[in-house]
Amino acid sequence: ELPPIDGDFYDLSAKLNEEDRALQLQVREFMEKEIKPIVNEHWLNASFPFEIIPKFRELNICGVTYSGYGCPNRSFLMEGIIAMEMARVDASIATFFGVQSGLAMGSIYLLGSEEQKQEWLPGMQQLNIIGAFGLTEPEVGSATAGGLTTTAKREGDTWVLNGQKKWIGNATFADVTIIWARDLDDNQVKGFLVRKDTPGFSVEKIHDKMALRIVQNGLITLNNCRVAESDRLQHAGSFKDTAKVLKMTRAGVAWEAVGCARGAYENALDYTRQRKQFGKPIAAFQLIQGHLVEMLSNLTAMQTLCYRLSELQDAGQLKDEHASLAKVFCTLRTRDVVSRAREVMGGNGILLEYNVARFVADAEAIYSYEGTKEINSLIVGRAITGFSAFV
Ligand code: FAD
Repeated sequence: ELPPIDGDFYDLSAKLNEEDRALQLQVREFMEKEIKPIVNEHWLNASFPFEIIPKFRELNICGVTYSGYGCPNRSFLMEGIIAMEMARVDASIATFFGVQSGLAMGSIYLLGSEEQKQEWLPGMQQLNIIGAFGLTEPEVGSATAGGLTTTAKREGDTWVLNGQKKWIGNATFADVTIIWARDLDDNQVKGFLVRKDTPGFSVEKIHDKMALRIVQNGLITLNNCRVAESDRLQHAGSFKDTAKVLKMTRAGVAWEAVGCARGAYENALDYTRQRKQFGKPIAAFQLIQGHLVEMLSNLTAMQTLCYRLSELQDAGQLKDEHASLAKVFCTLRTRDVVSRAREVMGGNGILLEYNVARFVADAEAIYSYEGTKEINSLIVGRAITGFSAFV
């Protein structure tokens, strides 16, 4: 009898308490039963499976780590495990969740006033309100810290926003989008809660992506879009505050990369044990085992790193450079794992139905979003050398 297939080689989930382990298995079951059967078709059609929202809601996992406002108040480790379990089946669904629960809800939870939290978070927790996070611009991607060109001009009790935002996940259907803009008076970056039907706010879907095709990315145009002062994130005073949100979500992206690698590895291992050539399962060949062990080594290193990352986060000790190092390492290693997974599956590795080709494509987007390898490396480089090498 063949040994069971499990990408958690060092049994790291033994570190979870019973309650967390139960939730991990619940998320796994949801992903396996509800998402896996429909995901390739949605990926191909670049459509979002809105039909899953009610079942998603039942899991009660949005705003995992936040307390109050109906949020579950679980650990950062639990949040990481959820991101991994989602990405293990599909990275687009993990990204949808990361935008809603991390970037959008996180901006409000970390930087909103009490009234703003009460207005938005309970509905977002229940997925009755969908959020998006608009930082990147068509001409400003890596350089958002100093270079945002979207402007905000205060006029009495309202702000007038002008500019464009590119790549914004969930933007085509979001009820509220956090728009980051430079205040023309004090030159600081501020955050605004922009409601869907606000005049001057429009969204165009970005078509023909070769990765994360289920994620609905939008190009947002703000044309004299007026937002009330009461919809300005009250505790976001400069880009340093935006970075607090990114530190939290980058840790989540590292876990997503683990999930992607784990899904690809487990599928590839399964395939190689079944596929026969020269009269034997290909898993019995030394060169194939070499690939499998390389994949598992990378996957295990990533997982171990992420467990410690979450421990630091739970202890309130996570620094920007910790999150950046994990994001760089995991997304880079994941590219290697998914490409080996594809390789050991031969031609079938490029067919969607074998559930590895999608990971190969999606790993490319995860590698670049929430700060590229270069930008996150420069964050680590600055921390260890004391020199900033950004410009
Ligand atoms: P650029 O900044 O143009 O970079 C191009 C290359 O130059 C990269 O390799 C980069 O590392 C390198 N580079 C740049 N500066 C330096 C430097 N100083 N030193 C060395 N190399 C450098 N953004 C949002 O705000 N909200 C979202 O919801 C969102 N979702 C996304 C979803 C997807 C699928 C994708 C692909 C992107 C998303 N983004 C989102 C945007 C994402 O964060 C940016 O793509 C990313 O930050 C990189 O910016 P860029 O694509 O403009 O690349």
